[in-house]
Amino acid sequence: MDELETPVLDNHLHLDPVNGRGMDAVDEFARLGGTHLMIVNQPSWKLGIESTDPEAFRPVFETTCEIAADASDRLPGRAWPILGAHPGLISRLVEDRDCSPTEARDCMRGVLDIAAEYVSKGRALGLKSGRPHYDVSEAVWDASNEVMKHAFSLGAEIDCAVQLHTEASVDLTEIAVWAADRGLERHKVVKHYAGGRLAGPTPSVMSNKDWIETAAQSGEPFLMETDFIDDPDRPGAVLGPKTVPRRVRWLSEQGYDDAIARAHVETPERVYGVDTESTLL
Ligand SMILES: [Zn+2]
Repeated sequence: MDELETPVLDNHLHLDPVNGRGMDAVDEFARLGGTHLMIVNQPSWKLGIESTDPEAFRPVFETTCEIAADASDRLPGRAWPILGAHPGLISRLVEDRDCSPTEARDCMRGVLDIAAEYVSKGRALGLKSGRPHYDVSEAVWDASNEVMKHAFSLGAEIDCAVQLHTEASVDLTEIAVWAADRGLERHKVVKHYAGGRLAGPTPSVMSNKDWIETAAQSGEPFLMETDFIDDPDRPGAVLGPKTVPRRVRWLSEQGYDDAIARAHVETPERVYGVDTESTLL
């Protein structure tokens, strides 16, 4: 296979070495030309955390840091952990744990505080927050927005990017303004599972050909991702670990070399302050 001669970053995926493919997925990504990964912690409930005490979430972060270290050993570049609370957690806390929306909010803010500790110690690269992509009560919606705003305050305080899980949208300018109001520059807010175009935050584009081509043609900063969930019970629920390197090869064949540099060198530098070229061995 031809060398890609560029860093290749998948900006959002999950790995489950216990139940899923774990390091085999990393090896497959690297074999196809992948070099760098942003590994997002699995939803806490998938790891059996059912507590309302933020301290109980620490093992989720420890596990993700271990996975990222193992992945780094196998990649030509490296992997970084992105840590936080999945926005769907609020529904579990309210519906299954009898929390009020306010109590759920406070728990999730506490989880983010712990995630921020990992970032400030250099053990993780960024935070993960957001709000439900499905219909919720107004109280839950408001509480979710408050959680997200807290993530922005933390991101500003410790100077890191915040990845978001939100409803599908082509315009999240309002959210970007919330971040900017708290001192976090809007380009450090990253919408995971984005389409090819997005106003406001930096889009992390799901690597479907159409969306990637739209982003490539836009001339705007973007990242590429698969949202691989590494869940054997849901094969095909998302894109596989080979997808980003494959799409980069396709972009190269189409002559989009500027877009490849944008998504894999320039935007990672702009959003996370990482140098994907120099971290290649
Ligand atoms: Zn995800």
